[in-house]
Amino acid sequence: MIYCPLCTQPLRLMPHDAVQRLSCPDNDCGFVFWDNPVPVVVGIVETPKGVVLAHNKAWPAGLFSLISGFLESAETPQAAIERETTEELGLITHNTALIGFYPLPEQNQLIIAFHLRADGTITLNEELDAFKTIPSRQLGDYDFGPLTLTRRLIDDWLAA
Ligand SMILES: [Zn+2]
Repeated sequence: MIYCPLCTQPLRLMPHDAVQRLSCPDNDCGFVFWDNPVPVVVGIVETPKGVVLAHNKAWPAGLFSLISGFLESAETPQAAIERETTEELGLITHNTALIGFYPLPEQNQLIIAFHLRADGTITLNEELDAFKTIPSRQLGDYDFGPLTLTRRLIDDWLAA
């Protein structure tokens, strides 16, 4: 963000609560770009055959990860990951349980991670073009490549 979205003046770094934030220099305007993180839900979706990893069409070949998505207005994180799992994989979910919260500053997101059990036949939506089901006992050795946060939250779940 370069210009004030309210009055179009160039923003400047100014201290607020001891943090330098992009701010409007016009005191009558007072706009501050707080840059608060966006919540993103992530699900370890476990079917009777194993945990589902999916490949998004927009990702590099060979990169598979957990189901994820954004919240709709007024939706709880639990409802959001259940909805995303049904939308993206066509599965019925049950026994949703919170794993934890994981800041992801590189993307300015707060990851809210869940474990879900799911049944049914996997039908990928238009965002995805491939999936794998990995038995949970093999997930400890699975190579997630650059997805270090995925690795971390799966390790937290396996250790629980
Ligand atoms: Zn302004």
